[in-house]
Amino acid sequence: MSYLKNLPEAENKRILIVGGGFAGLRVARKLKGTGYQILMIDKNNYHQFQPLFYQVAASGLEPSAISFPLRRIFKGVPNMLFRMVELEKVEYENNRVLTNKGYIDYDYLVLATGADTNYFGMENIKKYGTPMKSVSEALYIRNRLIANFEEAYTCDSQEKRRQLLNVVVVGGGPTGTELAGAIAEMKRYSLPKDYPTMDFSDMRVILVEMGGRLLNGMSDVAGEKSLKFLESLGVEVMLNAAVKDYDGENVKLEDQEIPSNILLWAAGVAPNPVPGLPEEKFFRGRLKVNEFLEVEGMKNIFALGDLAYFEEEKFPKGHPQVAQVAIQMGDRLAKNFKLIDKKKEPKGFSYTDLGSMATIGRKLAVVDLPFIKFQGFIAWLTWLFVHLMAIVGVKNRLFIFMNWAWSYLNFDASLRLLIRPRKVQHEEEELMIDDSK
Ligand SMILES: Cc1cc2nc3c(=O)[nH]c(=O)nc-3n(C[C@H](O)[C@H](O)[C@H](O)COP(=O)(O)OP(=O)(O)OC[C@H]3O[C@@H](n4cnc5c(N)ncnc54)[C@H](O)[C@@H]3O)c2cc1C
Repeated sequence: MSYLKNLPEAENKRILIVGGGFAGLRVARKLKGTGYQILMIDKNNYHQFQPLFYQVAASGLEPSAISFPLRRIFKGVPNMLFRMVELEKVEYENNRVLTNKGYIDYDYLVLATGADTNYFGMENIKKYGTPMKSVSEALYIRNRLIANFEEAYTCDSQEKRRQLLNVVVVGGGPTGTELAGAIAEMKRYSLPKDYPTMDFSDMRVILVEMGGRLLNGMSDVAGEKSLKFLESLGVEVMLNAAVKDYDGENVKLEDQEIPSNILLWAAGVAPNPVPGLPEEKFFRGRLKVNEFLEVEGMKNIFALGDLAYFEEEKFPKGHPQVAQVAIQMGDRLAKNFKLIDKKKEPKGFSYTDLGSMATIGRKLAVVDLPFIKFQGFIAWLTWLFVHLMAIVGVKNRLFIFMNWAWSYLNFDASLRLLIRPRKVQHEEEELMIDDSK
């Protein structure tokens, strides 16, 4: 393998950041203007705001509104570089990573590659189910739902129509709860406008959760209220129920089958693998780090965010895999790099839990703050404000604000377009259209 082409040599020490998610982006932004060469690599050339994926899936927002071009943060800053390449292996003995485009040497390595979907070894769910761990998967869900609605409208078999309209969401955490709520709202507000003669009593939105409550990471009251809110929107919530199998047409539970040609899998995350590092450095796929966020026993390799596993007194089982942890870890590490640069001692990381929240629908949200818990309209306004402020990019923030205001006034997000990517090939003067999705 050769050296990654067109990469300037580092005059000073090079910090290689792998992953432009919440953690990686934070480190890079905070190190602007320092003496280090900051090189970020990511398999995509944009940052994704995962908390709003469900709104893309439910036709509430355009994918571009929750994505931010990574190159823009490096624009005009000479010591900051971005390359769209994929990490394949860490050769820690040589201070080198191998990517799909060539190798890169580093002085410090920051691993922040996040997590992907966990199917818990269920091959059929992996094959036929639909995950939502990237903006492109969220867009796929949107297209798939709209394609189903379009087909159901011209379908003369009630049995088939039900299968096309039913949506089964698996996993009662924030993602599943928010997704089920948003699809139930589509059914209630926007779909009857688009398909005025369709009988939507044929459509079921079902949320399946293996445990006995929703939003397990939040307070009991948040779990109870979210159940009430979902039921008020017409979602059938099945608690203590597990999906056993799925063949693309019927969802099999212990005691029943639900006809549905879409199963949205929001039931688990697994850290992205980091090949090359010894097995003993991992705990359940996450990289074990010390308080300085160094991978245990490796002085110049750090892991952050969903990928990192660090036990502190308040969090004896490690931190939750949420954005705040990733952001705070990124902040600490950037500060430590500045201290290291000044030949000072780095400081240890400790997570400050700022609270958690989830939105179930219009005017329906639950908020747990360290000092107060509240639900309903005020919680919903709080959720809107916090998420609007967290979005990367002023243009995106403005766009989302206008979008939300419009949807609030009209009960209609009006983004339900079915646009499939097409590849046009010119072959022997014949125009061929490859309609693969
Ligand atoms: C649908 C959904 C909703 C969520 N909602 C919330 C919420 O409401 N609140 C909350 O706090 N948290 C939420 N989370 C969790 C939160 O998004 C994560 O905890 C957070 O993104 C973790 O940040 P990170 O930097 O560790 O990883 P990520 O943000 O996932 O970033 C990882 C980056 O690494 C890149 N990458 C991965 N593998 C490679 C590779 N091999 N080579 C190069 N690049 C690679 C990816 O492209 C990505 O840019 C949600 C997550 C999902 C999926």
